[in-house]
Amino acid sequence: MLTARSEPRPVNLGAAVSGSLGSLVRAPEHNGRHRTVARVALTLVLVWALAGTAQAAVAAPAKAKSPKVVFPIVGPATYRDDFGDPRGTRSHAGNDLVSSWRAPVVAVEAGKVTIWTSSASAGCMLYLHGASGATYLYIHLNNDLTAKRDDRGRCKPGVAYAPGLRDGQRVRQGQLIGYVGDSGDAAGLEYHLHFEYHPKGRDAVSPYRLLRRAEKLLFAAPESKLGRDAAGAATLSLVGKVVSVAPAGAEDEAAGDATGDSSGPEPPPPPASERRQQALLLTVDVTSVRLSSGGRFKVKRRVALLLPAGATLERARKNGTARLDDLVTGARVTVTTTPIELSLETQRARPGALSAARVVVRS
Ligand SMILES: [Zn+2]
Repeated sequence: MLTARSEPRPVNLGAAVSGSLGSLVRAPEHNGRHRTVARVALTLVLVWALAGTAQAAVAAPAKAKSPKVVFPIVGPATYRDDFGDPRGTRSHAGNDLVSSWRAPVVAVEAGKVTIWTSSASAGCMLYLHGASGATYLYIHLNNDLTAKRDDRGRCKPGVAYAPGLRDGQRVRQGQLIGYVGDSGDAAGLEYHLHFEYHPKGRDAVSPYRLLRRAEKLLFAAPESKLGRDAAGAATLSLVGKVVSVAPAGAEDEAAGDATGDSSGPEPPPPPASERRQQALLLTVDVTSVRLSSGGRFKVKRRVALLLPAGATLERARKNGTARLDDLVTGARVTVTTTPIELSLETQRARPGALSAARVVVRS
């Protein structure tokens, strides 16, 4: 996804001997991403030379468990393991996650962000220094004010970065930190996030396995959209198709895995007359999410919501009342939740985490 460049590689000895994390953050970043491999490799050689022992250089890649991360983009994204692919004279130091313009980008784990705007090839970029010790690079964030790739937006909060995001700010896991774009030498290419993973701040390794395991969030919004004061004021509207209605407690079978990829055959539900008495779980394949306080998200996620007995069921046409039996598999519905807080829990939207207040059947 990235154009090949052959630029000179300045060597920063001071940064190199001060530690690899230091070199990542403080070294000149004329072309942020593809150089980090070379620079960190140089760091290791220097450490080895200075220490006078081979042990420092062969310090094994961490066997420690990789951090449990959430997926860095909210909404559909396609990627493959293109780590190490040739990019001109270098190799690709991350994975390119192809997505849509201004798709929300979130912190994969809790940590501290460093905003970086001075790399011509990386464009609008940021580092996330995770609590696990890993460092993540987010490259080619948005710099357009319109979908016409105008490049007029600059690397600013509200354009490239989340509104109000400050350099050095601590962020929670799942917090909105930026938007997908095509800044730097991604200009003219597909909108994508170049994402790098540096365990313990060392050499980049492929983030592919980490990404494959990552939980995908249902939505992301600026923290100010739903702050503590406003908690309880906002709701989500989910548009999608009914998968099933089942007694709560059977959610594992009903919900399938969180990625919404598939689910096994489902046992036939009991008759509606028996079901209305118990707590139910409404499972929907969601394609779009709207936050009442502002924000729309295109997604592809299976969500299992609690359907309390008091929830309102309606038909879109004729202003009619709907019955539980109308919630057949494949029915198109809009589900409005009870008031939510903006938290990792609601963003994850695991089975039963969200509760339906109103369901409108559209077909
Ligand atoms: Zn890339």
